[in-house]
Amino acid sequence: MSDKLDSKIPAGPLEQKWTKHKMDSKLINPANKRKYSVIVVGSGLAGGAAAASLSEMGYKVKCFCYQDSPRRAHSIAAQGGINAAKNYQNDGDSVYRLFYDTVKGGDFRAREANVYRLAEVANNIIDQCTAQGVPFAREYGGLLDNRSFGGAQVSRTFYARGQTGQQLLIGCYQALEKEIAKGGVEMFPRTEMMDVVLVDGHAKGIVTRDMVTGEVKSYAADAVILATGGYGNVFFLSTNAMGCNVTAAQRAYKRGAFFANPCYTQIHPTCIPVSGDYQSKLTLMSESLRNDGRIWVPKSQDDAAAIRNGKKKPEDIAEDDRDYYLERKYPSFGNLAPRDVSSRAAKEACDDGRGVAPTGLGVYLDFRDAIDRLGENVIRARYGNLFQMYEKITGDNPYKTPMQIYPAVHYTMGGLWVDYNLQTTIPGLHCLGEANFSDHGANRLGASALMQGLADGYFVIPSTIAVYLAGEKPGSITTENPEFAQIEAEVTERLNKLLNINGNRTVDSFHRELGLLMWDNCGMARTKESLELALQRIPEIRKEFWENVRIPGHGDGLNTELEKAARLADFLEFAETMCHDALEREESCGGHFRLEYQFTADSPEVQAGSTQPGEAMRRDEEFAHVAAWEYQGTENKPIRHVEQLEFESIQLAIRSYA
Ligand SMILES: Cc1cc2nc3c(=O)[nH]c(=O)nc-3n(C[C@H](O)[C@H](O)[C@H](O)COP(=O)(O)OP(=O)(O)OC[C@H]3O[C@@H](n4cnc5c(N)ncnc54)[C@H](O)[C@@H]3O)c2cc1C
Repeated sequence: MSDKLDSKIPAGPLEQKWTKHKMDSKLINPANKRKYSVIVVGSGLAGGAAAASLSEMGYKVKCFCYQDSPRRAHSIAAQGGINAAKNYQNDGDSVYRLFYDTVKGGDFRAREANVYRLAEVANNIIDQCTAQGVPFAREYGGLLDNRSFGGAQVSRTFYARGQTGQQLLIGCYQALEKEIAKGGVEMFPRTEMMDVVLVDGHAKGIVTRDMVTGEVKSYAADAVILATGGYGNVFFLSTNAMGCNVTAAQRAYKRGAFFANPCYTQIHPTCIPVSGDYQSKLTLMSESLRNDGRIWVPKSQDDAAAIRNGKKKPEDIAEDDRDYYLERKYPSFGNLAPRDVSSRAAKEACDDGRGVAPTGLGVYLDFRDAIDRLGENVIRARYGNLFQMYEKITGDNPYKTPMQIYPAVHYTMGGLWVDYNLQTTIPGLHCLGEANFSDHGANRLGASALMQGLADGYFVIPSTIAVYLAGEKPGSITTENPEFAQIEAEVTERLNKLLNINGNRTVDSFHRELGLLMWDNCGMARTKESLELALQRIPEIRKEFWENVRIPGHGDGLNTELEKAARLADFLEFAETMCHDALEREESCGGHFRLEYQFTADSPEVQAGSTQPGEAMRRDEEFAHVAAWEYQGTENKPIRHVEQLEFESIQLAIRSYA
């Protein structure tokens, strides 16, 4: 265990840790709270919830986002739902079961104490959001409705049609707007954080660029919170919004915050397949569709080839000639097997020559049986907007013919390392939501990201920020401290350097090249060789980028190419850390699948019937830990630190969904 990684997990029984921690932590009295200021970067569900809550408690908050309104944070894209263990269905759910499913779903690579707290506060989130007026779907009797998501055998997902993120964000945004109107939150839209400022080793502010005027400016506070979302766009093609980036986290990493488990990427099984080289975005088809849709490919390669050549339609394939491979391989969970498992199964079917999209990379998600059983109206009420979106993009009507889907990059479980208080290895710098590594281990279960972001923002940080602030003298640091001017100068110099390259290639051409390299070599499957290849190529691409990128225009106003270039420069550094992490983790777990580490027909575990050939082979003896990377200079390999994971409540086992 690295002595630099103190997780600060409270002692005592799992169920009492959070309550006890709150009891044992220092409080700041209401009159004193007003003296403290906090910077929150990000106004998605995690940042928006944190900013609104901290302001309501009395802290002075400055909140930053790069969109023109907090209402447009990427959280708005979330479709399917948010988990909580209310057990309204009386189907055996409990806080413990949600905790257990989450730890197991993450392939036993998350901290028990954090996950238990998450499961515990999840019910409060539903109450809070309902009180805000979030229009969760309801049953006839008036109770909130639930549906099922992958990796769980209970129905615990609360939803608002296929727009849950949007509705939750509207609730959060209203809370934030109320605080803005009261003067507790000062909001800075279209303001991009370019770096974090440390004074005497503590995070005391940020340097930003005004995206409209180009002004580079500093802001100081007593503590800084990053809630800046995930880094899936390192792959260029992903389901994330185009603006999602790693800049804030990478900048913090370069100033001393450790980056944990960067190799854990979630590849979501149900996205619209890639259809050509021109694409810059992939579209998610919500996991909720797997409640009623059945996934299949033809049993024979000939039938699949006939479909690809347009000689057969899915309707021409007889029932007996279809392979409902998830139902076959994982009978207890069927189409609701977790995402990593389902994605790999789709890849396996396509690698076997049974893919149905023109590219060979696609499987069917079929609603025929559900429509026969429930009627088209019920399906329309449940998923109408998703069906409409699918038809608009592909031209196919999913009420009549199955959807074609394929896995795509969707979420990143890695992020800045944080302790139980959500503080990074830099004192005063906290990190929330998708940007931290905390609760999902090697694989996130569906509907758990919204839960974590809101848990962090509404319930955890409002308590734990005081642990840091109580030891600080409020207002002691201002932008007059010389560290601010120095980092402002560094930011300006870097932007000018980018603008002055004047090369021949567009930012996107570099991003596309990096993304493809990452997908091919550090994507759904990785090997030692592929990762070594990527580690050799990334510095070469980075070098060419800094010599040959072309950014038209200037820095004194709106310049979207400059914005993209600055973000890509960070991706080009970060990608290397991802590959180092994937290379050193010599096991397969969750979203990290190393081809060398999979069960085969000869494995004793397969012979004993505990798993199947092709499933991920964890190596708990060596790797039941968090890997957190410490920056050592861009051209040097970072140092890998280890936080050993202690499992007191859950026994590690081969993850089985059969
Ligand atoms: C298509 C899609 C559907 C999804 N559906 C679900 C679902 O049904 N259920 C579920 O649980 N999860 C879902 N997820 C995942 C979930 O939506 C995200 O993980 C979650 O919303 C992230 O919230 P966040 O607050 O951490 O970050 P975001 O919502 O990404 O917010 C990031 C914020 O940081 C700001 N920011 C970033 N960098 C900077 C910078 N340098 N300077 C200033 N501001 C910055 C942005 O402006 C933004 O305000 C889905 C994801 C996708 C892509």
